[in-house]
Amino acid sequence: MAVNYIYPEYEVARNSERCINCRVCENQCANGVHEYLADTDKMISDDAKCVNCHRCVALCLTRALKIVKSGNTYRENFNWSGKVRNELYRQAGSGGVLLSSMGNPEPYPVYFDKILINASQVTNPSIDPLREPMETRVTLGAKPQVIERDENGQIKNNLPPQLKLSMPIMFSAMSYGSLSYNAHESLARAAEELDILYNTGEGGLHEDFYRYGKNTIVQVASGRFGVHPGYLQAGAAIEIKMGQGAKPGIGGHLPGSKIVGDISRTRMIPEGSDAISPAPHHDIYSIEDLRQLVYSLKTASGYQKPIIVKIAAVHNVAAIASGIARSGADIISLDGFRGGTGAAPARIRDHVGIPIELALASVDKRLRDEGIRDSVSIIAGGSIRSSADIVKAVALGADAVYIGTGALLALGCHLCRSCHTGKCNWGIATQVPELTKRLNPDIGYARLINLLTAWNHEIKEMMGGMGINSIEALKGNRLMLRGIGLNEKELEVLGIKHAGE
Ligand code: SF4
Ligand code: SF4
Repeated sequence: MAVNYIYPEYEVARNSERCINCRVCENQCANGVHEYLADTDKMISDDAKCVNCHRCVALCLTRALKIVKSGNTYRENFNWSGKVRNELYRQAGSGGVLLSSMGNPEPYPVYFDKILINASQVTNPSIDPLREPMETRVTLGAKPQVIERDENGQIKNNLPPQLKLSMPIMFSAMSYGSLSYNAHESLARAAEELDILYNTGEGGLHEDFYRYGKNTIVQVASGRFGVHPGYLQAGAAIEIKMGQGAKPGIGGHLPGSKIVGDISRTRMIPEGSDAISPAPHHDIYSIEDLRQLVYSLKTASGYQKPIIVKIAAVHNVAAIASGIARSGADIISLDGFRGGTGAAPARIRDHVGIPIELALASVDKRLRDEGIRDSVSIIAGGSIRSSADIVKAVALGADAVYIGTGALLALGCHLCRSCHTGKCNWGIATQVPELTKRLNPDIGYARLINLLTAWNHEIKEMMGGMGINSIEALKGNRLMLRGIGLNEKELEVLGIKHAGE
């Protein structure tokens, strides 16, 4: 069989005048790109192994390195682009599914970038958040439809369990196993310090992290890894994962090579065995079945914890969300198709699902139209990149957002999309001891706090500019948004006017 030689995607450009042969790059690259040749006293590189993670670039003290996109081209063909051909050659050689990591990188419209935020002028004056109170705390959970009073006229406190957050931001589900221990510690400690929540993902809860319980969402996924009564009691809320934006409709797979030591114990599966989450929950084939699991989990946790149901944003998401709201769930989590993941088939990630902006707007509208919006809170996730995205998401109807990729970037991730290889040079998505120690949780935790503190301040600035002093008043407030360069249908689904109107 002919060998399909594919020219490397990236080239290592080493400035020989700056390079001092210190071999730092050789030690730092887990992919074995750099090598020192003693006989010639020179560094060489195997470009084909480079995933462009920038670790060596960042640590080369003499700035001798650059990673550049290979200039190699095929004969032009807009239909059969170089990317399409490389993928085909790869599959013809391997016979396998193309795996990748992190979110959908394809150039679909990013609606957040086509939405503009309002600001007050003259009337309804703006508010200065440095001098006046500004409320970004949110409470997630079902709200009662009516206020009931007892025989003495006192309001009955019949509020279902709620999650209280200091700002409308949480860390999304990322399992221990797909992430390193130090990454989880960074997230858990930052969540505690910021008075928000992080999410175990589907890998169970390491015994060291039970102490962060009041800032933890414990997830129950189709594989039920690490789920036991103590786990369900340990967190502040329980999330049923029905789907994930990066891979709607399919299950998950953490290779046996990553199921080692603590991870095996935490997931409650033998070392070396693949952790395969089935595509469906084998006990859920209808909203009634989902309701049974919701109430089983409420019973298991003494009706003290809100139940979140997480779904991928797909075509009929509004109808699905309506069913979930009626299943007894307290919170719906919507995950758009740009959401990250540790591993996904690239075809699924890049072609299945819909953007979070459209899903969120249509779910919020449907629940309002049906008069059940207050019976659930909505969390939006799937590539929330900045405080501006958060303001826009809240105005489109979100109570809060999940951030995953953004949090990993704060920890040092350079989005090389190679988490599935287990060789994360930044110590985040790996279990290799020499690599995991590269992420210092003291630094990771501080960087997460910096990021969210900055974002929360920016949210207050934008709210103040709109003359709004409470995030609750922004929720679903589409009058604060205008579209730019969007067609009539897009504006209709988003429920916003065009700029200039
Ligand atoms: S880290 Fe920089 S200076 Fe050191 S060997 Fe690599 S390229 Fe040369
Ligand atoms: S994989 Fe990362 S560390 Fe290795 S050569 Fe490429 S950019 Fe440098």
